Parts: sequence; C-alpha cells; structure tokens
Amino acid sequence: MKGSCNCNTVSFEILNEVEGLYQCHCKLCQKQSGSTSNTATIVKGDDFTWLTGENSISHWRKDSGFTSHFCKQCGCPVPNRLRSTNFYWIPMGLVDDFDINVTTHLFCASKASWDLISDTASRFDGMPADIDAFFASFQK
Ligand SMILES: [Zn+2]
Ligand SMILES: [Zn+2]
Repeated sequence: MKGSCNCNTVSFEILNEVEGLYQCHCKLCQKQSGSTSNTATIVKGDDFTWLTGENSISHWRKDSGFTSHFCKQCGCPVPNRLRSTNFYWIPMGLVDDFDINVTTHLFCASKASWDLISDTASRFDGMPADIDAFFASFQK
C-alpha cells in the first residue's frame, strides 16, 4: 500500500499486510484531525519505507508527549515512529487504496457529542492497558 500527503511531497509505502485500523477519539486527535478522530494503523519498522519527502517533515511535541508530524508544504499529518519503539503510526487517510475495517476505537470516553460510532469494533474508554500488545496487533 502506498500513501502520500495532499501535495505529494511526502510519500511512503507499507510493505506487508495490515489487518485492522483504529480510531482515536481523544481531544488531541480531534484537534489534530480537525474532526471526530484520527483513523490510523500501526506497522512494524521493517514493513515501512519512505519513498519521497522525508526531509520535508516538521513536527511539534506537546509537553505530555503527544507528537504531531506533518508535511511542511501542505500541513497533512504524516507517519511517524512511535516514541522509541520500532513501530510506525500511519494516518490512513493518506493511503490511496485499501479495504481494511476499523477494529478498535480508543478514548471513547472523550469523544465529541456529535461523533456517532456506528460499527461494532472494540471500544476502550482510553488506551488499552497493554500498549505494546496493542501496537503489535495490526499485523501478523
Ligand atoms: Zn504535503
Ligand atoms: Zn488520540
């Protein structure tokens, strides 16, 4: 699967299958996405490669540790490595063509009142307790 930002400066490829997506409904993701949530998946570092534009990425870090990486040209959120792990966060709106269901909803306790979660995926009030297992759960 390939993905790119709105201006095509930043592009990347996911080299292995992905089995699920998650939506995070926390307030930070509401602001970052400008919408109800971020829809994303998490892939292993070995299964992710930049194609173009890696040096056109800027980032911002909140004191709490929340980090936003984005294209300097068009402002799109772009993938980033999760803290010190070997996993990459992939904002799925950038990916061109795929057929993968949302399997998990995070931070449902802080979702917007106008955010109607309409599928039957697993729901958590916040983050799952075992974060490492969560990161590893989207691929075989
Ligand atoms: Zn861009
Ligand atoms: Zn969030």
